[in-house]
Amino acid sequence: MAISNNRLSKEQYAENFTDIHPPFETADAALVEANRCLFCYDAPCTKSCPTGINVPKFIKQIATDNIKGSAHTIFSSNIMGAGCSKVCPVEKLCEGACVYNLMEEEPIEIARLQRYATEKAMAGNWQLFQRKGSTGKKVAVVGAGPAGLSCAHVLAREGVDVTIYEKEGKGGGLMTYGIAAYKVTPQFCEDEVNYILGIGGIEVKYSQELGKDISLAELKKNFDAVYLGIGVGVARKLDIPGEKLEGVVDAIQFIYDIRAKGYPSVPVGDKVAVIGMGMTAIDAATQAKRLGAKEVTLVYRRTEAEKPCTDVELDIAKLDGCEVIWLAAPQKVKGSGGKVKQLVCSVMKLGEPDASGRRSPVDTGETFTMNVDMVIKAAGQVPFEKLVSKYKLDNTYGKLVVKDKASTNIKGVFAGGDAVNGGKEVVDAVQAGKDGAAAILRYLNIQ
Ligand SMILES: Cc1cc2nc3c(=O)[nH]c(=O)nc-3n(C[C@H](O)[C@H](O)[C@H](O)COP(=O)(O)OP(=O)(O)OC[C@H]3O[C@@H](n4cnc5c(N)ncnc54)[C@H](O)[C@@H]3O)c2cc1C
Ligand code: SF4
Repeated sequence: MAISNNRLSKEQYAENFTDIHPPFETADAALVEANRCLFCYDAPCTKSCPTGINVPKFIKQIATDNIKGSAHTIFSSNIMGAGCSKVCPVEKLCEGACVYNLMEEEPIEIARLQRYATEKAMAGNWQLFQRKGSTGKKVAVVGAGPAGLSCAHVLAREGVDVTIYEKEGKGGGLMTYGIAAYKVTPQFCEDEVNYILGIGGIEVKYSQELGKDISLAELKKNFDAVYLGIGVGVARKLDIPGEKLEGVVDAIQFIYDIRAKGYPSVPVGDKVAVIGMGMTAIDAATQAKRLGAKEVTLVYRRTEAEKPCTDVELDIAKLDGCEVIWLAAPQKVKGSGGKVKQLVCSVMKLGEPDASGRRSPVDTGETFTMNVDMVIKAAGQVPFEKLVSKYKLDNTYGKLVVKDKASTNIKGVFAGGDAVNGGKEVVDAVQAGKDGAAAILRYLNIQ
């Protein structure tokens, strides 16, 4: 057993990491699907989209060959509509609400249709919005992730000059640095950021970190308002013995390396344990399997009923051949010669219900041991508690506290996205950016 980066041929790698949700092959196929739509009044799909995209309208526009109009409808509500069409967990959002589900028929392929229209807009660089005349106002946005970009785009549209400060060398946030390679490619993310910036009036200063290269006081002094879209921070530690052994890796780093370095630079184990059951854990597990690991086992301390990922995501992992162990909590990692050899887990059981009826897992005192050569930690991320506390921003364990959807306790400072909700989906961050922009426009008496 050993970690290796040479388990697949180049061809196998390309096949395993191909687009998980491929586009329509022909315009006719898109047209046929668009014409299946019942164009419901008070459409449940629109209500279930966190950005409130007018789904029946954009589908009708595709059906009448008005692709520009369709893309405009989508981008008016969600400027990352192209990215969202590839990464949204639609089974619990728009497509999950489609009335066809009640008739036990396949729901309309909303995301695929959304991809059809938005990809045409991006490929043709159709800039569908014009900036209003200058308001003379300047806003600083910290973080070029979905929340920051969405906020910046709305403000730019309204004639505000925006400067984004981003600590990394590229924009897109976790869309660029976190989401699995078979959902979005680095090139797509770059194209999407460029498309969003195409409106003008947004300058991005890369490699500029709040708290290191710039301070909140400076931003407050030099701008009329500040928006914090800094996301959530580093991976949560397991705090168990052996966590530093070679072969114990962080899921986000693992996923990022696959995207950034590609084949064959990212080593993977023969027998891999993935700790966690969220979207990050699923992405790490399926990608480990697709990189050629022989056995991949997801280890989760609760039961299937409490899993944070959706059934569809779990099915993807299972179809890829990943195993699951429920009610198991990692206790220690054992190694030899500095390398991982075993993962020891406590067997858990559900305890008595608390006041809210929730039953937390409790240790039974029994353990079991798995032979592994790689452990991937995907037990969530920890917010930037030190940073936000340093600036005396109200927070709960680092998660920023806002009122009226976006206002922090500091006048003129607004926030949204994962930094506030602790980690949801891209589409939620895009809506948070819109809410932030609306609050800033009200604060600056624009509109
Ligand atoms: C592994 C993984 C897989 C995921 N898969 C999906 C998926 O399939 N579908 C989905 O919808 N969502 C997915 N998500 C969630 C989604 O990526 C996030 O909800 C979304 O990116 C949040 O957007 P945001 O703008 O709030 O934060 P982020 O995307 O985290 O962006 C924050 C930005 O702020 C920058 N920043 C942070 N601190 C500072 C600072 N001090 N100074 C300057 N810049 C700073 C960061 O570099 C980053 O660019 C996934 C998340 C992870 C971790
Ligand atoms: S943004 Fe996501 S949730 Fe909203 S309609 Fe598009 S695919 Fe569905």
